[in-house]
Amino acid sequence: MALHHGSRSAPSERRSSNPFVTDANPALGERLEPPKSRLAAGPVPADVAYQLIHDELLLDGSARLNLATFVTTWMEPQARQLMADCVDKNIIDKDEYPQTAELERRCVAMLADLWHAPEPEQATGCSTTGSSEACMLAGLALKRRWAARVSDPTRQPNLVMGANVQVCWEKFCRYWDVEPRIVPMSGERFHLDAEQAVALCDEDTIGVVAILGSTFDGSYEPVAEIAAALDQLALDGPDVPIHVDGASGAMIAPFLDPDLVWDFRLPRVASVNTSGHKYGLVYPGVGWVLWRDPDALPRELIFSVDYLGGDMPTFALNFSRPGAEVVAQYYTFFRLGRAGFRAVQQASRDVATFMSGRIAEMPEFRLISCGDQLPVFAFTTTDQVDGWDVFALSRTLRERGWQVPAYTFPADRQDLAVVRVVCRNGFGHDLAETFLEHLRAAVEQLNTYTGSGTASGPSGFHH
Ligand SMILES: *Cc1c(COP(=O)(O)O)cnc(C)c1O
Repeated sequence: MALHHGSRSAPSERRSSNPFVTDANPALGERLEPPKSRLAAGPVPADVAYQLIHDELLLDGSARLNLATFVTTWMEPQARQLMADCVDKNIIDKDEYPQTAELERRCVAMLADLWHAPEPEQATGCSTTGSSEACMLAGLALKRRWAARVSDPTRQPNLVMGANVQVCWEKFCRYWDVEPRIVPMSGERFHLDAEQAVALCDEDTIGVVAILGSTFDGSYEPVAEIAAALDQLALDGPDVPIHVDGASGAMIAPFLDPDLVWDFRLPRVASVNTSGHKYGLVYPGVGWVLWRDPDALPRELIFSVDYLGGDMPTFALNFSRPGAEVVAQYYTFFRLGRAGFRAVQQASRDVATFMSGRIAEMPEFRLISCGDQLPVFAFTTTDQVDGWDVFALSRTLRERGWQVPAYTFPADRQDLAVVRVVCRNGFGHDLAETFLEHLRAAVEQLNTYTGSGTASGPSGFHH
């Protein structure tokens, strides 16, 4: 979210609110604009405030056409109802809301089971506001474990990761004074690999972050290979734990790729996080982080809070936080079970691979990934295209309401720019067909206007 400033410009004199709600509303009978930078002097009726804010929010994009975000944009009415029932519950207040706390405990236990914690009752975890907070907590645990090993306070800890990490890891490093050791992309390798990861590790490496899967192209990083290489390193070198950032994939792989070994089945995996609000299928903001056993989570990070009554151990950056999302996560687990999750995630993967298959057939595009890991794929333009690029394509699709981001890859592939499509629950085959139709139209339009590549010249325009 942007960091916002105070008042910048003088408030506009132009009317923006609907007179039905204000001047022509007998209950109000006056002109009224929603306040932009100062509290208004007095109150307004609740239904007027509701209507004006509701109207203003119509300017937000349509969630159904948003192929940019990973975050859940649809839940069942029953889930919304449960969330509304719990909107006043503060998750930290575990003594007043013991049942909400119990549902959180059950979610952690279910995730420990899903991610194959060897002794589920030994695994510890908690809910968070999202994966970012979860990653901060996991990173802090790694840093503490390192600090307990080294005695010299002048040493500088480092964390090894691919250049494709989500920004939360760069944040973690900057906020908590850890040197980021970034493995650049190279050629057609768009994420971390074992050899490069190990090459950057030393005695001050607090951990290696492996991502399941990459936000840039949806690919899974080879967690098992990285673990095996670190096992080798540990024979006569530093013993470096892995944190798996499973923001998306930790809720995909258990259902669609059960034989892929990436989780607590690997003894080197100390902790795993996921975003409940991504493929955990819950509205924002909920995330989860779990540690395999008490050794992985240093005790001194755990606070015991007793001033709300009771006595509970917590590890969190926030104190107060809504309980509704945790209840909604439990609802989703209960509602879907394994088979339900498999069906939902498979449908997203099917749509992703179907779309990427069609796009691969277009002479203008080359796939970077095909959506068979995360239901997410990226593609770029081929040499046939010379008058436009993925950024122009993204803008052209936007004219039809689609939000599909175009961006440049990180080091050392800044020469590569892609568009990315994220398939989520609710984006079905019909919408996918519509998207492909609009994509073809956008390409035709761009080819025509720029005289590029495969177009048959300006006179070749047809519908
Ligand atoms: C989305 C994402 C995050 C951040 O997650 P939030 O839940 O949005 O805080 C971290 N890592 C990866 C790999 C992600 O995809």
